[in-house]
Amino acid sequence: MSTQEDLTVEQALSMVLAGVEPLPSEDVPLADALGRVLAAPIVARDSLPPFANSSMDGYAVRAEDTEEAANNKPVSFNVLTDIAAGTVADVVVTQGTAARIMTGAAMPQGADAVVPVEDTNEPWRDSARRLPETVLIHRSVQPGDYVRPIGEDIEAGHQVLDTGHVLRPQEIGVLAALGVSIVPVHRRPRVGLLATGDELIAVEQPLQPGKIRNSNSYAQAAQIMTLGAEPISLGVAGDRESDVRHKLALGLEQEVDLFVSSAGVSVGAYDVVKAVLEKEGNIGFWRVRMRPGKPLAFGDYHGVPYLGLPGNPVSAMVSFERFVRPAIRKMAGFSGLDRPEVSVVLKEEITSDGRETYVRAVVRRTADGYEAVSTGSQGSNILTSLVKANALVIIPKGVRQVEAGTVLRALMIDWPETVF
Ligand code: AMP
Ligand code: MG
Repeated sequence: MSTQEDLTVEQALSMVLAGVEPLPSEDVPLADALGRVLAAPIVARDSLPPFANSSMDGYAVRAEDTEEAANNKPVSFNVLTDIAAGTVADVVVTQGTAARIMTGAAMPQGADAVVPVEDTNEPWRDSARRLPETVLIHRSVQPGDYVRPIGEDIEAGHQVLDTGHVLRPQEIGVLAALGVSIVPVHRRPRVGLLATGDELIAVEQPLQPGKIRNSNSYAQAAQIMTLGAEPISLGVAGDRESDVRHKLALGLEQEVDLFVSSAGVSVGAYDVVKAVLEKEGNIGFWRVRMRPGKPLAFGDYHGVPYLGLPGNPVSAMVSFERFVRPAIRKMAGFSGLDRPEVSVVLKEEITSDGRETYVRAVVRRTADGYEAVSTGSQGSNILTSLVKANALVIIPKGVRQVEAGTVLRALMIDWPETVF
């Protein structure tokens, strides 16, 4: 890895992604598997549904016996038995007979269709009513009507979900239905998080001259948690090599999968993260041609991947979005690594300095697409313009001015629900 080289965002990102691998598999209880990524395919041991059953409350019959049935010409059937969900009837439905059956109950032998209760002379779902001896059927049905056949959804022996599949509520439901109580998923990345700088004081402390509160540790921990990964706080290191080394050692002890630090990676006299990594790691210090967030360090510290973010709060958060987020997603097993992207029409003129620029913006839906307005001051220390934003609009590299009406790409950092 080269040092002090200007890289494009694309080059830097592909080097970061080449340096991390999906974490190994672990088995978790199904109830804890939401949001995790499958580390092995799931093959159905059983069919779903596991047996043919009724999709309606009604009467199980032989479809051919209903051929003549019509509204003005009902046909009478002898009712053999009542089949509740969860039971199996030991009757055989023969010519001219029917079995009252509830939704989800197993089809009795001999029957190949269900007539919904609405199409009979029996009252609507009246559980108190005893089983009638006969029932009048007002319509004809075809074989298979209102029957959910075995394996209609999933056939035993078939692969249902592949490695890399993200477990949303619907996948959790499928796994539960198939009896998969323990799920093989990629391990959650454990991310050692370090803030650096002699100017930092804790959030609970009163302000002191020249000091600022350590906001990065909180913001990056929140970014890590949003990804379903686990932040491991390594605290704050002062601008001394020994202190940085000491804090990173805590991370090694706790076997973190990735180090993320903020500040200390630019060209200031006290930028000690850089010094430590040059001595004890394998590191490229880069200037990435992006705004905000020029300095970025990537490499490894004693074999553990390391991403050093800039110190300015917005630069740190945007660099996290661009580089750390995809890296953590790759480690967690996701195949989709980037935020969703839309084309937006810019509503105002914006100037840039030729670096690939990430403009904090509000993206709104319009009748024919999306439009974007910036959220105000774009200084790399102005967190409130990120607070107001739901997107980062990208001004491509080499462009110094974009006119209102220009179509640009926007990374959606939030996709708010529709307000009615
Ligand atoms: P540096 O990268 O050390 O030159 O820091 C750049 C800017 O980010 C300086 O204004 C720092 O005070 C600020 N900064 C560094 N670390 C933090 C932090 N953890 N929280 C808030 N601001 C920070
Ligand atoms: Mg500093």
